[in-house]
Amino acid sequence: KEELIRRSEKLSIVGELAAAVAHEVRNPLTSIKGFLQLLQYKDSKDEEKQYYNIMLSEIERINLIVSEFMVLSKPQAITYQNENITSLLKDVLTLLETIAIVKNIEVTKEFESDMILVKCEGNQIKQVFINVFKNAIEAVPDKGKIHIEVSQWKKESVRIRFIDNGQGIPNDLLSRLGEPFYTTKEKGTGLGLMVSYKIIEDHRGSINIKSEMNKGTTVDIILPVSIDE
Ligand code: ADP
Ligand code: MG
Repeated sequence: KEELIRRSEKLSIVGELAAAVAHEVRNPLTSIKGFLQLLQYKDSKDEEKQYYNIMLSEIERINLIVSEFMVLSKPQAITYQNENITSLLKDVLTLLETIAIVKNIEVTKEFESDMILVKCEGNQIKQVFINVFKNAIEAVPDKGKIHIEVSQWKKESVRIRFIDNGQGIPNDLLSRLGEPFYTTKEKGTGLGLMVSYKIIEDHRGSINIKSEMNKGTTVDIILPVSIDE
């Protein structure tokens, strides 16, 4: 009976998600359609250019939403392999640190070990690091700070911690994190954390977020380390 209830709960979550996705994708599509119709009657080049720009950015938005969801669609027979979590993190940081530098953000790192094996799907874990780090970049002011720590956690796990000194998250909004399409950003999708929670849950890990307004946010990703076979 319990199984049945869980199943129907899951189905209703899928239904809600499908409705939300349809809605989010339909908005830009409606806008593109409208501008295409307008274009048929336009003869001024300036106006045309403006319409093309709007349509391009709407297409970009659909692309963003769809690609965030792609991460969740697993390739057939996904195989978890032993991967070094610090090198996955370093791969991602090489790219993201350059963005941080451009924005005058100071990035500091503290890796307890250079070799910590986790059984995982490397690309999915990288995607989580990207999502969390991007949020930190977007939260900090000019001359902001982001600190990244990797350390052993409770014998069998590893903790990857991202600390930023950004605007923080109000207490009453903390519980909404990970809800699909929940965003406070003008150009946000509100999918990054939902996807991240899902991936980390699939890996039997957890994400914990602590935050204080105007002080900053700490995101902890906890993953079980590989046991020697
Ligand atoms: P998006 O970044 O597209 O808004 P996310 O799922 O990544 O979607 O994040 C959802 C919301 O959580 C953000 O809009 C923001 O309000 C809040 N948030 C996430 N990370 C942070 C952070 N490090 N500092 C402040 N707010 C954050
Ligand atoms: Mg985000």
